[in-house]
Amino acid sequence: MAILKRILRLTFRFPLQSGLSLAMAVTCTVLVLVLPGVTMRFVDVIIGQKRPDLIIPTASVGIGAILLRQLLFTLRTYYNNSLELKLTHLIRVELYDKLQRLPVKWFDSNSSGEIMSRVANDVPTANRIMIEGVDQAIAAILQFLIVVGYMCWLSWQLTLVTLIPLPFIAVLTTWWSRRSEPMWRESSEATSALNAILHDNLSGIRQIKAYTVEPQALETFDKASRKVGEKTMTVMRGQALVWPGVSFIAESGIILMVAFGAHWVLADQLSKGAVISFLVAWGFLFDPISRINTLSQTFTKGIVSAERVFKILDTPDEANLTEGIRPERMTGHVRFENVSFSYSEEAPTINDLTLEAQPGETVALVGATGAGKSTVLNLLTRFYDPTSGHILIDGVPLDTISKEWLRDQLGYVTQESFLFNTTLRENLLLAKHDASDDEIWAALEAANAAGFVRASPDGLATVAGERGGRFSGGEKQRLSIARALLKNPPLLLLDEATSALDNKTERLVQEALENLRSDRTCFVIAHRLSTVQKADRICVLHHGTLVEQGTHAELIRLGGSYAKLCEATFANDPRPAA
Ligand code: ADP
Repeated sequence: MAILKRILRLTFRFPLQSGLSLAMAVTCTVLVLVLPGVTMRFVDVIIGQKRPDLIIPTASVGIGAILLRQLLFTLRTYYNNSLELKLTHLIRVELYDKLQRLPVKWFDSNSSGEIMSRVANDVPTANRIMIEGVDQAIAAILQFLIVVGYMCWLSWQLTLVTLIPLPFIAVLTTWWSRRSEPMWRESSEATSALNAILHDNLSGIRQIKAYTVEPQALETFDKASRKVGEKTMTVMRGQALVWPGVSFIAESGIILMVAFGAHWVLADQLSKGAVISFLVAWGFLFDPISRINTLSQTFTKGIVSAERVFKILDTPDEANLTEGIRPERMTGHVRFENVSFSYSEEAPTINDLTLEAQPGETVALVGATGAGKSTVLNLLTRFYDPTSGHILIDGVPLDTISKEWLRDQLGYVTQESFLFNTTLRENLLLAKHDASDDEIWAALEAANAAGFVRASPDGLATVAGERGGRFSGGEKQRLSIARALLKNPPLLLLDEATSALDNKTERLVQEALENLRSDRTCFVIAHRLSTVQKADRICVLHHGTLVEQGTHAELIRLGGSYAKLCEATFANDPRPAA
């Protein structure tokens, strides 16, 4: 009920349109009475009293009223569709806006495919409640009441007889509506799961092909798709039993009505025209009842979808996104003070970390996979907040600073070097929306990317392809370095690529990175000997704990875990620094 009220409130955002649509529904409904009324007049007056002169006027009134009803119906369909599209747009945009404001943590436990399913399927399904649901339900109730009123005016006794099947139908449909709701929910969840698998598999299509796991992927998809079918079939099976049952009860009522009608006509208590009028009106009385089938399905499905949409809309926003301190400028002094963090209840991922970077310094983070290096960067971007301890930037605690401001000061170059499927120019302008082409080219030059961009067929207007698929790993990396250069941030977070690049590309990327690193504080997850050798400070992480800290020379001299790691990890580095 609460969900229904909430959806109704949304419709009130378009008061004129919803009011007009409702008014037309009422008029259409009242005009329903023309057909039984005209029929009765034909039987009792024109035939009964032998008045051929009334045939044409009566038929004209009937046809005119039916025409008006259908015209209103057309208008109403048009209005309803346009209202529905507006509502869908409104909720879809609201949902997308919300998704952008949710914390990164939320996306850890909600798959992209599922989220896409909510935006693409659940929003329109929820809105159908409004159009098919509320509008038609109101029209149906109204039609029912008007027809009952008309019948009572003809004969209240025959009306009572006609209504006998009603309580049985009401009990059956209410019971089914309650019972089918969890079934629809399961069916809807199965569809989401299927979408999630599809999205995942399409994103990883190269891996699937490379590992030739197509059969396994197909099997997973097949299983998920079958589940959708099975869950939906459970509801359909129920429907197949319930709705013929409803029709049986309703249609048996006709026989009952005609039988009693005949009895009262023979007893001269009712005119023949009235009985025929009852028969015609019966269609209009039970039309709304038979529509309850689709209506209740729309309602149940819509409520389930609306619930899923509202659940996202009700998730709290990422805290401190816009509010918080916005210092004049950042010099890039970073300090971690006894910082601990864990993604879940388990053992901490970062354990009592204390380290400092002076403005302009490069801090190299090294350690085995899973040691917590990326997590340190995630804490600096505030994608996650420490469980205990503090991070200070220029002496200001990070959790008092506006996240928006903080992220404006950050350059983040990840291994994946994500490019959006739009032109290179637009991809680069993400970093600085008002950059001129000259600035863009200067950044591309410094990132050693100008050459291949110039050689691309459309230069800066070249479209990057899905996930930047048109460019090679080394090219994408240099483009994302160019993007960071354009942003010119005081604090740089860098995740060096692990993927092997050929020697020439490697040199170009290294040069670009050096251009990028100069004059700013830089935290780099280092995979290359040259990087650690040049770093002002190397932090060695082991299971989230800082085990050693110092320059390359100091740590080698120490002969501890860094020296060993250096031997194991960087032994095959193609480009050790001179
Ligand atoms: P590194 O960058 O050193 O390879 P990470 O910082 O990525 O290590 O990961 C440290 C640990 O935290 C790993 O055990 C990893 O499985 C875990 N981890 C990383 N990201 C998440 C996440 N979003 N949710 C839960 N655990 C995570």
